[in-house]
Amino acid sequence: MKKICILGTGGTMAGWAPNPNDPVLYQAAQLGIQSLWEGCIAPLDAADPVRNAEICTEQVAQIDSKDMSLEVWKALLRRVHGCLMQSDVAGVVVAHGTDTAEETAFMLHHALSQQDQPMLTKPVVLTCAMRPANVPTADGPQNLRDAVRVALDPQATGVVLVCAGEVHEARAVQKVYATALNPFSSGISGPLARVLSAPNERIRGAPDGEACVTWLKRPAGLTPTHQAPPMRRRPIKTLWEAPEWPRVEMVWSHALASDWALRALLNPEVSAEAQKRLANPKLMGLVVAGTGNCTVHESLEPLLQQAAPMGVKVVRTTRCLEGGVHLEGGVHIGEALSTSAYQGLSPFKARIALMIDLLISYDSLNLIHPRHAEFSKPPHPADPIPRSRPDQQGFG
Ligand code: ASP
Repeated sequence: MKKICILGTGGTMAGWAPNPNDPVLYQAAQLGIQSLWEGCIAPLDAADPVRNAEICTEQVAQIDSKDMSLEVWKALLRRVHGCLMQSDVAGVVVAHGTDTAEETAFMLHHALSQQDQPMLTKPVVLTCAMRPANVPTADGPQNLRDAVRVALDPQATGVVLVCAGEVHEARAVQKVYATALNPFSSGISGPLARVLSAPNERIRGAPDGEACVTWLKRPAGLTPTHQAPPMRRRPIKTLWEAPEWPRVEMVWSHALASDWALRALLNPEVSAEAQKRLANPKLMGLVVAGTGNCTVHESLEPLLQQAAPMGVKVVRTTRCLEGGVHLEGGVHIGEALSTSAYQGLSPFKARIALMIDLLISYDSLNLIHPRHAEFSKPPHPADPIPRSRPDQQGFG
């Protein structure tokens, strides 16, 4: 019998509406994962593999995922890793809110894919809901059953998200609808698989036949976005043992953009103020959500050129949802180079990748190591642009 660990973190799936006929007014993260699981298996046949799987549940957090914190991420990563390392565990399901599910999925994908271990073939399946648990049309029970069905499937691998009968890869998935029952899309690449419910799971009026997972593509699994060589990588536990992760901020390029936000981020006086308030104040990275093919407004360009010589890693991404980007052939702004490693990632996911890389890759840490004394005290953004050092370029 296959063993699946279900880790609860809250979200609407665990939500409670004071009036069950009004699913819009509710409080997320009210019910425990064990009771959600017990409540959702009732419609299954006695012979259904989902009903017969060996399940262990654990409440890792109880939050609305809009409030996702580093503490919860660290706890979740540690537990997901711990479960995967158990030889009797076939896969992990994470019950999560929809708001930041794509970010948590990608965080797990990027962190776990930095390791070279056999556990990487086991699936990690996030799932969620758009309606609270106690309304008659709650979608959480079906999604939770579907997630376990996917985790049990022999073809499942890597970090995926299951919602409304679709399976999405962590790298591609985005919440694109604010209110729809199926709020996720993998864009033009489409879902990885579909989950067909059993006939007696009546919620979505499934056709007759066995419940099954139909794979539309071969899952890429934990193929790393990119990876430093083993000798230049810290162990994964660094991520949950570190009190803070490197500070990486995002800036957006848009019509009528001004450099005020960027100026504040790079301003040493503001940094000094931040030193007093934040546990980890030094700015280590900037992700630019650019227009089109990662282009940025001319008002941002001069400051971006100053950021890299100040020891701030700048990664350019696009705010466009589709189409990928083509950065070969010297598309760059001074030192604000995009790394090809991050191509195709949304700005939010590129930010996560950069935080993780800065923390566990020695290569990237070389860029900002304190031995480079000139980096520890950032110049004022109005100062002349410092000359770049050759070793500030590239990534790993
Ligand atoms: N705010 C909720 C959350 O992300 C929304 C949801 O779960 O659908 O936790």
